[in-house]
Amino acid sequence: MKRLAFLLLALSAGCATPPPQPAVVAWTGMVRWIETETPSADCDRLLGRRGMRFGTPSAGCYTLQRDGTCLVITERIRREQDLGTIGHEVKHCRDGDFHDDEGRWR
Ligand SMILES: [Zn+2]
Repeated sequence: MKRLAFLLLALSAGCATPPPQPAVVAWTGMVRWIETETPSADCDRLLGRRGMRFGTPSAGCYTLQRDGTCLVITERIRREQDLGTIGHEVKHCRDGDFHDDEGRWR
């Protein structure tokens, strides 16, 4: 009888088990960088968002892929000043979201 109760408990517990969740991925230090003419639209598409987060079009964005590679999208780099966008996005790869609600650095 104890064995039957254990079996019923095990079966009922199985029904309540949530589906497996994707594992939290840690950044490996690898970056895949894509330059584009339309970073804001491409970032919205990549991140599945609509509209601007801080009231301005995005010059770049990032997302951590399942293999731990950080995918960075930036505007096309034409001048030395544009390189700051890459550094900004790579900081996101390492630190995640470091902006407050108004876009300032925390
Ligand atoms: Zn940022």
